[in-house]
Parts: sequence; C-alpha cells; structure tokens
Amino acid sequence: MKRRELLLFGAVFLASAILAVLAALSLRQWEASAQRHVREQARDMATMTAEKIEMAVLKAEEEGLARLQLAVRDRALLRERVDAWKAETPFFDRAYIFARGGTLLYPAPPSEGPPPSFEEIRREIPPGFWDRGGRRHVPLGDGVACAAVLAEGLDEPLLAVLLRSEQGLRREILEKTLAGLEGQSVLAVVDRTNRAIYSPRPLDDTEYVLSVAFGEALPSWRLALYEPAGLSPRDTVHRQAWLFTAAFGLLVGVIALGLGAAYRLVRRESEMARLKSDFVANVSHDLKTPLALIRMFSETLEMNRAPDEATRREYYGVITRESERLSRLIDNVLDFSRIEGGRRRYELAPSPLEPVVHEVMEAFRYPLAQQGFKVSVDVEPDLPDVLMDADAIGQALANLVDNAIKYSDTRRRLSVTARRAGPDVLVEVADEGIGIPADEQAHVFEKFYRVGRSDTQGRRGSGVGLALVAHIVGAHRGRVSVKSQVGQGSRFTIALPAAETR
Ligand code: ADP
Repeated sequence: MKRRELLLFGAVFLASAILAVLAALSLRQWEASAQRHVREQARDMATMTAEKIEMAVLKAEEEGLARLQLAVRDRALLRERVDAWKAETPFFDRAYIFARGGTLLYPAPPSEGPPPSFEEIRREIPPGFWDRGGRRHVPLGDGVACAAVLAEGLDEPLLAVLLRSEQGLRREILEKTLAGLEGQSVLAVVDRTNRAIYSPRPLDDTEYVLSVAFGEALPSWRLALYEPAGLSPRDTVHRQAWLFTAAFGLLVGVIALGLGAAYRLVRRESEMARLKSDFVANVSHDLKTPLALIRMFSETLEMNRAPDEATRREYYGVITRESERLSRLIDNVLDFSRIEGGRRRYELAPSPLEPVVHEVMEAFRYPLAQQGFKVSVDVEPDLPDVLMDADAIGQALANLVDNAIKYSDTRRRLSVTARRAGPDVLVEVADEGIGIPADEQAHVFEKFYRVGRSDTQGRRGSGVGLALVAHIVGAHRGRVSVKSQVGQGSRFTIALPAAETR
C-alpha cells in the first residue's frame, strides 16, 4: 500500500483515538460534577428539613413554657396546676421547678429518680435571666433539657427544667414533618451511632447517603438521608455514565471496524491493480509466442525453404496448432472479460461428455506427443448425458489439460478420466508435475492468481484459466476441486450433475 494511504489511515486512527480519550475524560468530569450536584441537592433538602424540625421543637417548647408560666402564677396551687399542665403537655416527659434558692417546688416528692442538680443548671443560666426570664438548652445526662427562668408576673423568679418526651417529640413533630415528604428519598432521625430513632418508612433496601446535624435543641441526633438501593440519583448518574461509555465504546468499535474494512478494501484494490498489470504483461507475452512461431514457419514456407513435402506438412501443422492455441488464448481472455461484465451466456442442452473429451485431447495431441507425454484417456462406457454447454465444458477441460502440460516437469504423464459417481459425472485431469502447495490450493481458482505470484517457475500464464474453469463449472451447478502435492502432481476434478437425475 502506498505511503500516502498508510498516512491517511494513521491520521484517522489517531483522530479517533484522541476523540475516544477526550470523550472518556470529559465523561468522567461530567459524572463527578453531576454526583457533586446531586449530593448538594440532597444536603440542601436534608438541611432544610432539619431546620424545620428544630424550629418546630423550639416552637413547641415555647408554647409549653408560655402555658407553664400561667400555671405557676399562683404559688399555693402550683403543684395541682403544674400537674394539670403536664397532663395536657405530652411533649414534656418530666418537669422540675426550683425556687431561686434551690428548693425543689415540683414535683414533691420527686417521682422518677433524683431531680437534676440545681447548682449545675444554675451555672448554665446567665444571671440576666433571673430578672427578665429566658430559656436555654442545657446538657443533662445523655440528653438535653430545656431550662427556663419564669419571671414575668411572679414575685420571685422560678427555674423550670423540662425534659422532652421522645414519644411526644415523635408524635407531635417528627411524624408531622417527615412523613409528609414525597419522593423516593427517606429522611430519618438517627443517633450518634447512626441507629435510626425515627423513620417514616422502613429503611430496608435503602442506602445511607448523608446526614446533617440539628441545632442546639437536638444536639445528639442527626437527620440522615437514605435513597432506595440502586435507584438513587447517584446510581442514576452512574448508570447514565455507563450507558454513555457503552454507546461511545460501540461507536469507536464501529469506527475501528470501518477503518479495518476500508484498509482491507484498499489493500485488495491495490493488490488487484498489481495483478491486472501482471495480467496484461503475461497475456501479451502468451500471445507473442504463437504469433512468432506462425510468422517464422509461414515465412519459411513462403520462401520455399522447406526441404521436402513431409517437412512442409509439419510446418503447416505447426501453423494450424499455434493459431488454434492463439484462438484458445484469445477466447479465454474474451470469455473472462464477458464473465467479468456479466455477459457470458451458456446454452445448456443434454449432451454426452465423451465427444467433448476426445475433441479436447485431439486438439492437444501434437503438443503432448511432441513433449513426450504419456497420455491415458479413460471414459467410462454408458456415461449419462450432462446438461451442458459443450463448448464451455470443452474450454474448461482444455484449460486443465493446458495447465497439466505447462506445470509438468520431467515426469510427463497425463491422465484424463470421466466416470460416474452417484448423481454426478466426474471428469478428472491428473498430472505428475510440480504440484501446488497446500495453502495456495484454495486460491488458484481466484482471478489473476498465480502460485508464487510470478513466472518464477518459468511458465507464463494469465492467471485467469482456472477462474474461468470455476465460473463455467459453477454455471453448470457443478463443482471443481484440486488435490495436489508439491513435487508429486495435481488432480483437478470437475463434478457435473448427470442430466437424468435433474
Ligand atoms: P495460469 O495462466 O497462470 O496458468 P491458471 O488460472 O490456469 O493461470 O492457474 C493458476 C495457477 O495455478 C497457476 O499460475 C499455477 O501456479 C497453478 N496451477 C494451475 N494448474 C496447475 C497444475 N496442473 N500443476 C501445478 N500448478 C498449477
């Protein structure tokens, strides 16, 4: 192949490779940024929901405290009123009320376990609270308590320590905020070890994505986002990236295949161009030899240089045979070009094979005899007729015999047989010549193909003879095959369907 074509293929290949690498890189970047985007969106949603929950908690506390403020107004009825307040405020589990000095006013006696230490809580309360009131979240045990100074409308400010009920929180806030969320994602409240405290839906078949912290009202919990396994936006992005990669891979594959096919085509074409130019040279040479002989002998005869009648007759014979050979050559080439142009027509009629065989052998009688060939022709008696174009089959046979003569060395034997084999009639032409290497046998029927690709064997030829044979036999719905061994000889077999079995 030419340098220019190779360069062109290289350039296309390189361009596709660069394209593939660039596409892979940008796909990777796209996937990373899409993942980031999806994650940010998820985080935004979780943060917003966490804020909403926090606000709701603060609001519930505020409302509870406002009512407690009223309940503690009357110091004498404090216990009963706070009991009543507690009954209607399930949001709080436990409530303790201290006087400013530290005396526990509620409950008396302390019901569930020892009350929280007044001193500890007082340390967390800014002094200003004692005058104007205020509240704050203080850590208590492993939870958090809402500590508030109730000052408004009281003679002496009181310290209320309220502990939230998990049940109440769940029912009044979490259920309301989280259960109403739509979409595939699940938002669940988890503790520090990611154990779910509350989840609106079961978390089986979901994947943890991320979690965000609440504010100071819920310091030990987090809000976690879960996505259904395999369906999360992250997986979707990943799947899309995969799909794209696969599609692109397919595209690159198709380009590579196309490139390969184009490369082969160009190589075949340039090989064909070379074979054609060989063909022209070979045919011209083949035509020259018989022409030179005809000319030489006719000139000799013209000048009356032949010594006697016998020699003269021999010269006439040479001229006749060489012109026959010339017409055979020309017929071959013309027929070949007709076949190539799709214009070769066969006139099929049931005909006997024997006369065809004998006619061909007769045509070759002189060269065979002259070159000292031992010839055996064996046509089985009572052969069935074959539906054939007798001229074409004769031409095919002549090509095989011509080759057998051409490609024989010192052992000059030719055997032509015609016999019946099942539904077929076989015509075989065998020689003991140079033979054909096994790996070339499949190619000898291709047009322009010549073993060794040149005339290294010292024999000229056009390379279309066997292609013609194969075409003719194919047109008769027959088969042609070769068995050959280098140095031993070759046997070409034409199988034609017998007419009566058709
Ligand atoms: P060519 O004009 O070269 O003989 P063919 O198509 O008739 O073209 O044959 C193709 C090639 O097959 C030949 O070039 C030759 O190398 C090989 N070949 C054909 N017949 C024989 C044979 N009887 N013995 C050895 N080689 C043969």
